[in-house]
Amino acid sequence: MAAIIIKFRKKPAKIEGYEALLKRLPLYHPKQELVEDFLKSSKAGFGGEERLDQLMKYFSPDYPYLIIQDYSISSSMELQVDTILLTQSCIILLEVKNISGRLRFTLNPSTLRQTTASGIERGYKSPLVQMEMAKWKFANLLKSIDISLPVHAFLVIAYPNQIVEDSPPGSIIWSADEVMIRLQNFKMPPEIISIDEMHRLGQQLLSLYSEYNPFPLAPKIGINPDEIKNGVFCPACEITKMNKIKRSWKCEGCGLTNPEAHHQALHEWFMLIKPSITVAECKDFLELEHLSSARRILSHPFYKKASDSKVRRYYMDKHVGIHEK
Ligand SMILES: [Zn+2]
Repeated sequence: MAAIIIKFRKKPAKIEGYEALLKRLPLYHPKQELVEDFLKSSKAGFGGEERLDQLMKYFSPDYPYLIIQDYSISSSMELQVDTILLTQSCIILLEVKNISGRLRFTLNPSTLRQTTASGIERGYKSPLVQMEMAKWKFANLLKSIDISLPVHAFLVIAYPNQIVEDSPPGSIIWSADEVMIRLQNFKMPPEIISIDEMHRLGQQLLSLYSEYNPFPLAPKIGINPDEIKNGVFCPACEITKMNKIKRSWKCEGCGLTNPEAHHQALHEWFMLIKPSITVAECKDFLELEHLSSARRILSHPFYKKASDSKVRRYYMDKHVGIHEK
């Protein structure tokens, strides 16, 4: 049976956001290390999830199923699940963790302690508790749409170099390498819904999906927007600012010219500073000489105009938005 993935995973937008933030933070900013940590753990998390996707490529159980990768609902209940397996008998949620080193699960209170290869110890919220919460929320979601399917949830450790030293009694932790076989051999309870109902449920879940919006990052991390560097950065050398020349931008470092370079800079404004921008803010942020140039740039179809009482604000058109990258 061919893989039936009804929603695919994509690179989380926050990774690009943290990269832009690091580029635009002044050197030796007190929050730099924290942002580097966020970037590292976001990349590790995504890497772990992608590894599981890769290992599931040949998944072919003898029961009909659907897969949803990276599911979230941001409204009332804030649910996030790395992978959902829908079947006619039950729903299986997979929560993937990629935290390297030695991992110890503590109880009373439940936490996860990590000891890195270099001996540094860190504490995390218990992924087992997080998984139980997701299971409970998902069961409630099903109840709210009148579906009575049992929900199972399993914690998946992404890489073999993550050594789980002790897991709480009764907990089941799988390595990513064994997930496919475990699921193929899973003892399915009796079927509760028909194949058509399973497909309908898949579509219903997708219609409830809403992407988690992590932006704007600076205020969320407690960084004053005034501390963020202005300017249009070169897409090739990344750390050099480009100069405005006639109808284009030019990097003095590598010589690259790019007439569209300001769009990336504005995209970074929306990720880092706030969801709207005025003509004056655009002029300052892009370090333009004239308001008229800022106005011309913002008249591009990428941006949507909205007028409030005094100042005209521009928003990034959601159809070309960062969330679809
Ligand atoms: Zn350059």
